[in-house]
This record gives sequence, structure tokens and C-alpha cells, in this order.
Amino acid sequence: MDTKKGIINRFIDFVRKDTGAVNEPKKITVIVRVLLLSYIVYYAINILLCGVMYMYFQSMALFVLYIVACLVMFAMTYRGKTSVTLWGFVAVTLVCVVSYVHFLGWNTGVQHFLMILLILYFFSKYKNYGKKIIFAVAVTIFRLFMFRFYYMRTPEIVLLSGEITTLQVINTVMIFWCISFICFVCSESSQELEGKLLEYNAILEKQATEDALTGLYNRRKGRDLLEAVSHNAEMAEGCCVSIADIDYFKKVNDTYGHDAGDEVLKTLANLFQSEMRRRDFAIRWGGEEFLFVFFNCSGDEACAMLEELRKKVQDTVITANGQEIKVTMTFGLTEFLQQDDVDATLKAADEKLYRGKEEGRNRIIY
Ligand code: GH3
Ligand code: MG
Ligand code: MG
Repeated sequence: MDTKKGIINRFIDFVRKDTGAVNEPKKITVIVRVLLLSYIVYYAINILLCGVMYMYFQSMALFVLYIVACLVMFAMTYRGKTSVTLWGFVAVTLVCVVSYVHFLGWNTGVQHFLMILLILYFFSKYKNYGKKIIFAVAVTIFRLFMFRFYYMRTPEIVLLSGEITTLQVINTVMIFWCISFICFVCSESSQELEGKLLEYNAILEKQATEDALTGLYNRRKGRDLLEAVSHNAEMAEGCCVSIADIDYFKKVNDTYGHDAGDEVLKTLANLFQSEMRRRDFAIRWGGEEFLFVFFNCSGDEACAMLEELRKKVQDTVITANGQEIKVTMTFGLTEFLQQDDVDATLKAADEKLYRGKEEGRNRIIY
């Protein structure tokens, strides 16, 4: 049982093997390999049916030739570029279709194999709309030309109607299998790509709006938030903005090291997130500066909330590099005035912060 499984797995790996050419996508090559193997099985069935059962012995040579062509083409897929594989497969299919129609007639439905080429070509090219249109037009003309030439023509081997029906069924099954296989593989991978794209977009969106160290919104997102507030009278009403700065942070870095400074920033960010109301925002404005945005409250209420926060900061003991660190913060608070623009509001908050620093730090200026 295990050896059987081993052989099957080895065979699957063999079919899925990368092409020898560098920098070539594998998908189309693997599809062509599976199609060629399907062709070989299909021609073997044709040998049994037309050659052995119906005794049209001339057809056996034809099908053996097809199998040889498929085997040569199959071997080529391990060396060549995807375009060589693709065009080789197109050539093999065209030659087989034309000679099959020539010898066994139009009524077996083998001409529908051209659909396989069309679908494979469309899935194998990324964009390249011009080439796709040219290919579709060429295949259509080819098919019409074949119709014009072979529809009324008596084939080299005249089959009985029951035999034609059987070949019709086999050709239909084969064509539907090939088309379904191509569509299955290609739609799977495009859906997978689409999923990956959505994931990457979410990551990019996160990176564009989030501060990597603290996980808080970054300055760009903070600015966007304030712009949104400035365009919405309802949001602006009862919105308060504060810019805050850690006191003597340079000294923290100098005394305990930059890593410890980072740890302080992270701990404070966590504190803000756990202590603030869900509707309010703490944003890393830059360096050791934070922006706080409060909604649906008066300036006095925002000031009271900041006072709570200021005390919590002052009382928090941060452990970093085996040492205990305590810091304080100074806050400049202002109400968001819609008649002012975002810059004017920020300037007002910043000026109050500056005053707070001048007046001795660890305080709120409102
Ligand atoms: P003040 O009370 O006047 O604000 O004094 P201060 O020392 O905090 O002010 P200053 O602007 O002189 O120093 C800010 C320091 O913050 C300088 C810079 O090295 C540090 N800093 C900025 N961003 C980071 C960071 O991401 N990590 C760490 N560890 N330090 C940072
Ligand atoms: Mg500063
Ligand atoms: Mg500072």
C-alpha cells in the first residue's frame, strides 16, 4: 500500500517539477504536462477502438505517431521556456486535429479540441489583450477554414454511424475534461492570488496607519482623523485635542539606554489604550509626543480625564533592563474649534504644551 502511495506521489512530483529554464512560471507547464498525458491515454483508447475493435488498421499508425509527438513534447516541457511549451502544445494539437479530421472525418467532433487551445492561451497570458484577440481571431478563422474544407469531404477512413457516435462521446468527454482541468487550476490560483492581495492590502493599510513600536495610530492617521473631524460639524462639536510630551525623556535614554526608552513608550501606549474610553484616541504623534482626541465631552471633562491619565503615568513603574523607571508627562489641551482649521487647533494645543513645559512640566494646560 505504502509503495503504491510512494509511486503515486513520485509521479505527481515528477509532473509538478519546475521547468529547467530560470524565472519561468510553472503553472502553465504543469497544465500542459497533464493535458499531454491525457492526450496519450486518449490516443491509446483510440488505438483500441479504431484499430483493434473497428479494425481500421491504418488509424493505428496515426495514433501511435500522435503518442510519440506527445511524448516528445512532454519531455520538452522539462527543458524549455513556458512559451515554447505552450506553442509546442498548440502545434501538437493543431496537427492532431487536422490529421484526425482528414482521416476520420468532421463528424467525430474532434475539431472542438481548438477550444482547449483558446482557453489555455487566455489563461497563460497576463494582460496582453492584443495577443489574446489575435489568437482568438486566428483560431476562429482556422476553425472556419477547416469547416469549409472538411465538412462535406469524404474522409480517408469512412466510419460507420455507430462508430462515429462512440468517438463523439469519447471526444466530448476528453474536451470537457481538458477544459475543466485548465479552468480549475487557473481559477484556483487567481482566487488564491486575490486572497493574498487582500491580505497584503490589509497589512499595508496597517503599516500605513499604525506606529510600529507602540501599535498606536501614527501621525498620518491622526492627521486624517482630525481632517475628518474638521469636515463634520457633529463630530467637531464636543471634540477636544491634546498634545502631550514625556518630560526629560532624553535623560531616560541617556541614563537607561535607548531600549529602555522604547520600553517606556510601549508601556505608556498600553496604559493609554487601557485607560481611555473606546470612543477616544491616543496617537503617537512623533518621538515621545502623543496626541489625544476626545469626543462628546466638554473641555473640562477632557481635562479631568487627562488628569487621571497624568496621575497614572506619574505612578507607573516601568521595568526595563532590570531597572525601574518613572516618568511624567506634560499636556496642552484645547477644544476643537471648527471655525479654525486642523493646523490652528494643533498650534493652540502645542502652545499650551510649551507653556506647561515652561511652568515646570508634569501638568495640564487648558
Ligand atoms: P522635555 O521635557 O523638554 O520634553 O525634554 P526631553 O528630554 O523629553 O526633550 P527632547 O526633545 O530634548 O528629547 C526627546 C528625546 O526623545 C530625544 C530622542 O532621542 C528621544 N526619542 C524620540 N523618539 C524616540 C524613540 O522612538 N525611542 C527612544 N528610546 N527615544 C526616542
Ligand atoms: Mg519632545
Ligand atoms: Mg520630552
